[in-house]
Amino acid sequence: MTQIQSPDRSPLAPFWDAAQEGRLVIQYCAACGETRFPPAPVCSNCLSPDQAWRDASGRGKLESWAEFHRAYWDRYKGKVPYTVCLIRLEEGPLLVSNLVGEPSGLAMGAPVHVVFEKQEDGHMLPKFRIS
Ligand code: ZN
Repeated sequence: MTQIQSPDRSPLAPFWDAAQEGRLVIQYCAACGETRFPPAPVCSNCLSPDQAWRDASGRGKLESWAEFHRAYWDRYKGKVPYTVCLIRLEEGPLLVSNLVGEPSGLAMGAPVHVVFEKQEDGHMLPKFRIS
């Protein structure tokens, strides 16, 4: 298997490294347990710099969504319409992603679960499907 390296070691690198393995991870504070997304070098709850990552359940609830009919990036040409969604993870943080699959059951608060889609360039993207 080809190992795909992140273009840099951005604060999101652990998130993308895990996604490449088909895992959804979330940053948490080792001092107080607070979870967050996007990641931060210091906890916004207790100001501890002791931040770590752990597997997320991959489950959440649909908070909002919008169907895009225009491709704002070349990579999305030919993929419209697609649905951008706001997911409240079970662990608490909000995550912007794409909703895939049949739209039946589409409603605020609908339970969703993560799925990983391999892109043309080999990168895995976490997306969500109505459960
Ligand atoms: Zn904390």
